[in-house]
Amino acid sequence: MRCPFCQSEQLKVLESRSADEGGSMRRRRECIECEQRFTTYERVEFSPMIVVKRSGSKEVYSRDKLISSMVRSCSKSEISALTIDSIVDSVEAEMYKEYGREIPSTALGEMVMQVLKQREPMAYIRYASIFKNFNSITEFLDEIQKLDSKSLVGHID
Ligand SMILES: [Zn+2]
Repeated sequence: MRCPFCQSEQLKVLESRSADEGGSMRRRRECIECEQRFTTYERVEFSPMIVVKRSGSKEVYSRDKLISSMVRSCSKSEISALTIDSIVDSVEAEMYKEYGREIPSTALGEMVMQVLKQREPMAYIRYASIFKNFNSITEFLDEIQKLDSKSLVGHID
């Protein structure tokens, strides 16, 4: 690391504290040469997780996609966005721990259901009833999107 002001590598750390609830480390630094102060953040870099569908095709795991599938299936059970976010955090932590780089889409779906079951039983029932009929989160999402556009057309009629 270099000082952003004078490019010197002679730096000292004045203060370290964890930020984002432990997700990152914030350090206040001072350049020994020019005495300017600045802040740096350190965070874990996850390799992208690959989701393997039943057909064998692969896609990069998308947190946004998982969240939107949950928002759609949980909307009527009044789970807050914050709760969904923390459920997805648990699922991701488990996913990286148990699977490393690749996870079958069915295992991902099961994992979401296990976490929901423990934390939001009503949402679990709803999610499971939808998910069980589909091979993967992706198919499930596609289907939900179709339902959405159908209901939209219905309203226009
Ligand atoms: Zn400097």
